[in-house]
Amino acid sequence: MDRTRLATVWLGGCSGCHMSFLDLDEFLIELAGKVELVYSPVVDVKEYPENVDLCLIEGAVCNKDNLELIHKIRQRTRVLVSFGDCAVTANVPAIRNQLGLGNAESVLQRAYIESAQNNPRLPQADGIVPALLKKVLPVHEVVYVDYFLPGCPPPADRIKGLVNRVLKGETLKLEGANLKFG
Ligand code: SF4
Repeated sequence: MDRTRLATVWLGGCSGCHMSFLDLDEFLIELAGKVELVYSPVVDVKEYPENVDLCLIEGAVCNKDNLELIHKIRQRTRVLVSFGDCAVTANVPAIRNQLGLGNAESVLQRAYIESAQNNPRLPQADGIVPALLKKVLPVHEVVYVDYFLPGCPPPADRIKGLVNRVLKGETLKLEGANLKFG
């Protein structure tokens, strides 16, 4: 039997949602027999692959790299889950939306110029440091999201509940309907 092709992605987040995923503890061993982890911060795969069955997205869409990647992910994924409050609402990364005047410039100025103790300069390096978007966005404001799994981070038992339902085919039947867990 083909195993479910699972991906987890880390956009603008603190990795706490991935830490909660690791809190699945012994369920991870069970999961390892049922899924193929095809892309994740915990595996060394550079390119998001084709034909992914389920993808958990941690973090908000903050910069141009995030934006490009989330479009690619949507094209290549059957079931996309906003995984945690930063993906669902933009949460902590979106605090900067309140500070800027429609751009990220004031935040960068404060962090890298006004607060610098030496060598003040903006982080700019084409191809290395992605440009910030004017506004931090939750994932569903950029691409269609199938399911929302809120929490900061979502507790491990709710992650397990969602993943189990997908593995049983239950959530795949609900594709197209946004379902809130918890
Ligand atoms: S939702 Fe909370 S735990 Fe998850 S990435 Fe955001 S701040 Fe971190």
